[in-house]
Formats: sequence, C-alpha cells, structure tokens
Amino acid sequence: MSEPSETLKSMLIGGEWIEQGDAAFESVNPATGARNYLISAATDAQVDQAIDAAWQAQRQASWRDMLPHQRAAILRRIADGMEQNAPLLARLQMIENGKVWAECKAQVASAAATFRYYAGVCETLGAEVTPARGNYLSMTHYDPYGVVVAITPWNSPLTMEAQKVAPALAAGNAVILKPSEVTSSPALALGRIALEAGLPPGILNVITGLGSTVGRRLVEHPGVRMVSFTGGTASGRAIAHAAAEKLMPVALELGGKSPHIVFADADQDAAIDGVIGGIFEGSGQSCVAGSRLYVQRSIAESFIEKLVARAGRLKVDLPDADGAQMGPIASFAHREKIEGMVESARREGAQVLLGGQRPDGAALEAGAFYRPTILGGLARDAHVVREEIFGPVLCALTFEDEDDLVDQANDSAYGLASGIWTGDYRRAWRVARRLEAGSVWINTYKQLSISTPFGGFKQSGIGREKGVSGLRLYQQSKGIYFGM
Ligand code: NAD
Repeated sequence: MSEPSETLKSMLIGGEWIEQGDAAFESVNPATGARNYLISAATDAQVDQAIDAAWQAQRQASWRDMLPHQRAAILRRIADGMEQNAPLLARLQMIENGKVWAECKAQVASAAATFRYYAGVCETLGAEVTPARGNYLSMTHYDPYGVVVAITPWNSPLTMEAQKVAPALAAGNAVILKPSEVTSSPALALGRIALEAGLPPGILNVITGLGSTVGRRLVEHPGVRMVSFTGGTASGRAIAHAAAEKLMPVALELGGKSPHIVFADADQDAAIDGVIGGIFEGSGQSCVAGSRLYVQRSIAESFIEKLVARAGRLKVDLPDADGAQMGPIASFAHREKIEGMVESARREGAQVLLGGQRPDGAALEAGAFYRPTILGGLARDAHVVREEIFGPVLCALTFEDEDDLVDQANDSAYGLASGIWTGDYRRAWRVARRLEAGSVWINTYKQLSISTPFGGFKQSGIGREKGVSGLRLYQQSKGIYFGM
C-alpha cells in the first residue's frame, strides 16, 4: 500500500471505492495547520447503500455460517496486513491527530494484536449444551445481530476501530465503520487491508462524514441492529435516545474524569512518572486520562512541587521530532475549547501552577500546541474538576484519609478509570473495591490488556469491550431445545 497521495479519500461500500466530491471536508494536520487531503462525506443515499450492501453481503457471503477457523484465518490475515502496513497506518494517525510517533506505532501493533486475539476467541467460543433433563436437552446458540455499526472517536482511532471491528466480525456480523471526521483515513486503510486479506466485499464497509448527519442516519436506520459507540458522553446520550426509539442494543464507551490518587506511603518518584504519563501522554486526549490528582495532605506540598518541576521538563514538539513527548492538540477547535476551560477556571480562582498557555517558539506556532498545564487551589465542585477537558490539564487536589478520598473520588458523574499509588497493598485493595470505576490501576497507570474487559461505571458508558465477553457483545443468544 502506498503513502496517502489521493487528494480526495473515497469510502468503501460493498467492496467498491466510492467518492463523494460535492460534500467533501478537509483533514488538517494539527501539528502544522497544513491540509492533508479531502474526505468524502456520505450522502443519505450512500448511508442507505452501505446498509443494503452489508445485508446483501451477509446473505451472499455466508460470513455468519462460515466455520469459525475460516473466519479466524481472515482475521489473522488482516492482522498480518496491518503489520505489513504499520508505517503507513502510524503515519496516517500522526498526521491526522498529532500523536507522537512512538505512540502511533504502538497503537498499530496493539490494533493488529486485537485482530489476532479475536481470531483465537472466535475459534474457541462455541454453543453451550445443557445435558438432557428428563425429556429434553437444551442448547444456547449465539447468533450475530447481522449488520452492526461501529462509530469511533479521533483520539486513538485504530485502537478503537480494531476493538470494535475485530470482535464484531469474529461474531459473524457485517460491519459498517464510521470513523471520526477528524481521523477518517486509518479506518479507510483498515478497509483496504481487510479486502486484501480476503474478507468478502460488503462485510466491512467504511463510510465517512459528520456524526450529526452520517452517524445519526446510521443509528436511526431500521436496517442496523446494534451500534457500538466510543466517544463523548453527550453524543452517547443522543445515540442512546435514538436507539431507544428502535429498542436497539447499544454499547457505549464514553468520557471520563478519572481520579489519580497518591497516598503518603507511595513511592513518590514512580508516582510522579505515573501521574505525568497518565495525563500528558497523548496530550491528555485519552478517555482514561488521570485528570483529577488527589494527593494525601501530609505530602501534598512537596509532591506537587516536584511534579510541577518534572512536568515542566516535558518536551512539547512536532510529533515526529526526536524525543518529542507531547504533540499538538488534535484540532485547532479543540485547543480553543481547552483554552476556554482553563481561562474560566482562572476566573473562578484556580492557580495555574504550570502551563496554561501555548508553547513559545516559531517552530510550533503554526500547530495546535498547548503546554502541559497543572491547576491548583480548586474547590471540589469547580467546573474543571467536574467536567472532562480532554486535554493536557491536570487538576491537583488533596485529601485527608481514605474516607475523605473515596468520597471525593466518587463524587463525579463519570466512572471510567482510576489509579492508586501506595506502598500498602491492603490499602490498595480496600480503596480499589470502593472506587466507582471500570478500571483501577495500582502502582501503575494506563496499562491495558485486550483480555481484560474495559468500560465505564455511571455516565462513562454501558457494556464492556475487550476480553472473551467482548465477542458476545456482538451476538444474541438463542435457546434451542431438543425433545428426547
Ligand atoms: P464525539 O462524541 O464528538 O464523536 C465520536 C464519534 O461519534 C465520531 O465518529 C462522531 O462523528 C460520532 N457522532 C457524534 N455525534 C453523533 C450522533 N449524534 N450520532 C451518531 N454519531 C455521532 O467524540 P470525540 O470528540 O471524537 O472523542 C472524544 C470523546 O471520546 C471524549 O469524551 C473521550 O473521553 C471519549 N472516548 C472514550 C473512550 C472510552 O473507551 N470510554 C475512548 C476514547 C474516547
């Protein structure tokens, strides 16, 4: 596969590449402000065409009835194709969302591993039979939904796309993938790789466009039987409303405002590294970003002082520059939103302990860069403490003891992730049990395993992706009874 040279990116519908020049929109490199290319925006008719193509492929290709090892073989070839095209896939992510190069490469590797994992799950999971009870025996059989839609965000596009497409295909579905308008091309490249790997045409369709038009039509369409969504909580709520009209199941992976907790008995050096990685990696544009720091009062002053000093040395640079630790914000519009939130926090009385502005230097002027920022002097109900910023902004707060900590950490509409640094594993266990969060990291942060289910408590989501059960998310069980 060649470098992205097309000026207008086509969509993949029914195995054909289709352009929509009239309604195309721009993809912009956030590190330089330069235009990458134009992306087609699907019309209503093209959305409908993709759904028809998916159903037709389902009927013709017998994807759902293929033997599991045959489906698995294709999923493994998709993983091979991703690995062979790793530099291109990494580059597409980098020029569209500005993530630093090392992170882009790591995400391609993890996306390929996700396809391999679900190839294995697909071969292993089968129907379950309950032995005869008197005059019958019963079987729990799992059917795919038929046609499912995957809608993904821009922050880690390929990771999210693999996390949905691999299990949905493994489960026997045809899939329509609608990537974020900010990062459309990794998904289009995945579509091409899947076709080349022998996936029957129409089993994976990739259509591009805005969420408010293309995404919405997909969700509302009667031909779509299930939607798997990752993105903001407001969009997730709109999708859940639309799904309620059709009584359609949805899986929602949404936003977060995750507490990152440091007890006085923690290894402070390791904790500082963990806190910095937890919020500033990916310029804070991570759903699990540890954006609320809670430090035990007895060490708070010295810990925050050291943290500010170390975070101040982070290298903000072009994403492919040597040693770059933080790239730009993924879009100019998003930087503006972050700046607005920091400014209003300042007006509400927050102290800016670090950053709170764009970096100096002509080299970064054209891009959407923003410095790592740490805010202190915050009330527990300040807007910046409550709302997801989705940027490199850490709110530093303190706590007295375990009860006070749990009370503050759980005082959030979100419940996606959390981190605990302590030298006392009994304390870690006690606190982990009490936190309202779908993931808890102890003396580490942001480690994610494909075999461990992931998802949110409260307004951070509904359902769990990943793990063996991640395949079942895309199936419905059917009880079949045999009279004896
Ligand atoms: P977003 O909600 O704006 O968009 C996500 C996707 O949904 C895009 O493809 C968009 O086009 C589409 N969309 C938007 N409105 C829609 C609608 N009404 N109907 C159908 N589709 C619609 O989110 P974003 O700005 O791309 O991503 C950032 C958000 O995603 C953050 O809130 C972040 O926390 C969240 N996120 C969550 C996870 C997780 O696993 N929980 C992972 C990554 C990102």
